[in-house]
Amino acid sequence: MSPTNASTNASSARPSPAEVSRRLDRAEALCAARGAQLTALRREVLELLLLRQGSAKAYDLQDDLRQRHGRVAPTTVYRALEFLMEQQLVHRVDTLNCFVVCNLDPQPHDHPHEHTMMLVCSRCGQVTEVHDPAATEAIGRALQTDAPGFRAMDIEIKGLCAACQSAPASS
Ligand SMILES: [Zn+2]
Ligand SMILES: [Zn+2]
Repeated sequence: MSPTNASTNASSARPSPAEVSRRLDRAEALCAARGAQLTALRREVLELLLLRQGSAKAYDLQDDLRQRHGRVAPTTVYRALEFLMEQQLVHRVDTLNCFVVCNLDPQPHDHPHEHTMMLVCSRCGQVTEVHDPAATEAIGRALQTDAPGFRAMDIEIKGLCAACQSAPASS
């Protein structure tokens, strides 16, 4: 099985309104098929994340929401993100303390807790979601020697993206 690689958009253009609503409709249908409900608020948080080119911190989304609706409780955004993560429509990248839209489109994760591997560029912050079960399993197996009982789930790898490697260092 070959990995499917696609950039999770940290540096790509803002999606068109048609693209955003297509993604939202698809997410809603996916949730419905799983017996879950993409409520108006959850849908809006996903929309805001898409409008931020697929990657944002929770407080950015909270700001966006506040601009549209006035005061918003901090838990509002977190609860919506929590749901979106359960549905694997969104993933959290701990390294950057941010949230990214899943890049599996139109084919979603097969099951709700499929492991993800995130390649994070230390310089520009671009996040690339990679799906390579063999690599994830290999890491899990290798860990059994060093850390028996530790179960690898989501993996984040820090490095430099191709663009940053060929760009002159800025400072
Ligand atoms: Zn994903
Ligand atoms: Zn980079």
